[in-house]
Amino acid sequence: MNPLIRLIPPFLVRVFARPYLAGDSLEDALKAAEGLWQNRQVLSSLDLLAEGIETDAAARANVDTYLRMVEAAGTDPRFSDENRPTLSLKPSNFTSSSLHEAGDARGAADAIREICVAAAEHAVDLTMDMESRHWTDFTIELLRDLHAEGHRHIGAVLQTRLNRCEADLDRLPEGIRVRLVIGIYQEPESHAISNKPEMKERLLRYAQILLERGHYVEFATHDEAYVRRFVDQVLPATGVGGDGCEVQMIYGVPRRKLLGELRERQIRCRIYIPFALSWPMAVAYLRRRLDEYPAMMWMVAKNMLRKG
Ligand SMILES: Cc1cc2nc3c(=O)[nH]c(=O)nc-3n(C[C@H](O)[C@H](O)[C@H](O)COP(=O)(O)OP(=O)(O)OC[C@H]3O[C@@H](n4cnc5c(N)ncnc54)[C@H](O)[C@@H]3O)c2cc1C
Repeated sequence: MNPLIRLIPPFLVRVFARPYLAGDSLEDALKAAEGLWQNRQVLSSLDLLAEGIETDAAARANVDTYLRMVEAAGTDPRFSDENRPTLSLKPSNFTSSSLHEAGDARGAADAIREICVAAAEHAVDLTMDMESRHWTDFTIELLRDLHAEGHRHIGAVLQTRLNRCEADLDRLPEGIRVRLVIGIYQEPESHAISNKPEMKERLLRYAQILLERGHYVEFATHDEAYVRRFVDQVLPATGVGGDGCEVQMIYGVPRRKLLGELRERQIRCRIYIPFALSWPMAVAYLRRRLDEYPAMMWMVAKNMLRKG
């Protein structure tokens, strides 16, 4: 991460990265999801920002929040089978023993299994976000176990920057839903490539492999040229239509025109909607977003000056 971004105090991260956050309650996230569907027929995936767990009680609180999210997504009258939000979750949110810090991820698998069972009861789909490389094996193994237990409603994420990504295509459970991303975590040269265009070429290549193997592919990038190549080249080459894939983007990244075009072409679009119940737990995510796109700080500052 850029050292300057690392030095920004949390209260300023909060100010500058505000557009990336739906709000500070589950209701804010649900309202954002409802608005996206009503105004633009865009679907959503809700994500609780709750990183940096230090106690088992905090990990448990996150499980309880996800259970509330499952219930809301499954029963809130604003949603039906047509527009029900999915939920995205990070394994590290459910353990005080992070693998990033050489812990053993104590409790995380059981917590995710508990959420998975509740989600099945409410017909809510889940996606397990992919965190730094320390978590890759854990996450894929857990997905394999959950699929073997019959949980077909949980999907995977693969990061094309990782050298291991192509081999991981073969380790995925058969037919699992897969979100393909370039990956937001900075990884050392020994584990990952740093050339962004190459990461994105891999997005196209791996999307094609996965579609040919019968996976539902979630093509997650804000790069308009690659979204167009996915739709104009990969889909026709595989014969897969709009019912076998979707395009995903993150809340706060302005892509209204592209989303409109995709909807006209019958391609499903989904926005990843993060919210936080506690600001300190959102700071790590928001800092990564600012690191990825520092121009957001100037956009926010300009808006504030204009309003002031
Ligand atoms: C739905 C979704 C889920 C994701 N889940 C994960 C995950 O589980 N694990 C993981 O490691 N990563 C995840 N990511 C992040 C992803 O790995 C990339 O870091 C992120 O999408 C930026 O890469 P890009 O492909 O959009 O390409 P970029 O080259 O970074 O972006 C393309 C263009 O979009 C614009 N843009 C990009 N980012 C922003 C921004 N933040 N604000 C405004 N404009 C922007 C810029 O104009 C840029 O030129 C997810 C991304 C999405 C869209």
